[in-house]
Amino acid sequence: MMKVPGMFSCREVHEHASMGTYDELGMMARIRFAMHLMMCVHCARYVRQLKALGDYARRMLGGQPDPERCERIETVVMASCDGHKH
Ligand SMILES: [Zn+2]
Repeated sequence: MMKVPGMFSCREVHEHASMGTYDELGMMARIRFAMHLMMCVHCARYVRQLKALGDYARRMLGGQPDPERCERIETVVMASCDGHKH
């Protein structure tokens, strides 16, 4: 989608989502993040899948984040995100 000033790009949304850093964003940034998800069905689906897989991974790992495993999970999610070009 088009890059709008003050709006997160798909790449930024994916970065924050995959890093889990959107929870640490400021209020305005979180609103922009949420606005992007409302406007961009691809990112909304990506975040939803990532969140579901992330929760699953955290349960499996007993709260110990494993960057390597998270990367594999992200690869699977990205592969399932058809036609979403960045
Ligand atoms: Zn997007």
